[in-house]
Amino acid sequence: MDIQLDQAPCGYFSISDSGIVRSVNQTLLDMLKLERSELLGRHIESTMSVTNKLFFHTYFYPYIQLYGHVDEMYFSFRTSDQQDVPVLLNGVRQTRDGESVVDCVVVVMRKRIEHEKDILQTKTKLQELYQATQEANKELERLHEEYEVKQQALLKVNDQLEAMASTDPLTGLKNRRFFQNSLLASLILLEQQQRHFSLLVIDIDHFKSINDTYGHPIGDLVLGNLAGLLQSMSRSSDVVARYGGEEFVIILAECDHDQAMEVAERYRFEVASSDWGQYNITVSIGVATAVQGDTDTSVFQRADQALYASKTAGRNRVTHADHL
Ligand code: GH3
Ligand code: MG
Ligand code: MG
Repeated sequence: MDIQLDQAPCGYFSISDSGIVRSVNQTLLDMLKLERSELLGRHIESTMSVTNKLFFHTYFYPYIQLYGHVDEMYFSFRTSDQQDVPVLLNGVRQTRDGESVVDCVVVVMRKRIEHEKDILQTKTKLQELYQATQEANKELERLHEEYEVKQQALLKVNDQLEAMASTDPLTGLKNRRFFQNSLLASLILLEQQQRHFSLLVIDIDHFKSINDTYGHPIGDLVLGNLAGLLQSMSRSSDVVARYGGEEFVIILAECDHDQAMEVAERYRFEVASSDWGQYNITVSIGVATAVQGDTDTSVFQRADQALYASKTAGRNRVTHADHL
């Protein structure tokens, strides 16, 4: 064997068809920790573990017989001190000096295997991370949904609280607080955009006698029914509220003096002509139309004075503050 092959940077061996080692280079001997004399004439499988022998038998020989060569066969040698050396083998069948031989080269694969192990570990780690990320995302999604549900519930509760805070519990109409805010808002619209409005103050006539005659619960019923009637007759842009006791207020959006008188008269007439059972219900109404410079107090006072005038003039009537 020439020196180049003997010292080549890969193992080389040549075997007979039956696997007897005919020649071997120094590189392979070093790899297997054997002397040349220990391997020459021996079976190549003497350098393999049982498992690898089995693999060699089922793969190497049939393949060489069938195709005349073996490419990139991966298996392990076993050294004289029982260490496994993973290698990649290429073999080719040739005829030399009239004898059929198989020439093989082997390259140690330890580094590549470590590399593969690293890659596998990294891949496993990545998969774990990916799974953890997915789980975290799912949890995040769940928390987000929970947050949305709670947010909706909170909004609903807020709406309910808002409604409760602005509603009169007996009649279901808007309460005095809501009316005060609406009156201020209407005054701002008048001031900034010249949007006129009028205010009605409505008081049930001789309501005390209803309570006295039929009892307080019936009085409550009357208040509720009257509230329903006022609300049903109003436009959506109007604010109908219970001011307190048996007194109601209505803000008539975009209504001047004449329109407000017409609307007030309609309310008065409807109450007086409705069927209230065994009792008669009438209302007195005071009307004021807001003018530039009005405050909530001034416009309300004028409507209240007009109401007082309706009462003193005999009740069941409408008076506009401008006529006082
Ligand atoms: P007027 O025509 O001058 O308005 O006479 P009135 O009897 O209606 O007026 P007054 O102020 O003398 O009496 C108002 C009555 O309204 C007295 C009070 O018991 C009754 N009232 C106030 N709030 C309620 C309520 O929530 N329920 C009931 N049933 N009665 C109420
Ligand atoms: Mg009153
Ligand atoms: Mg009254």
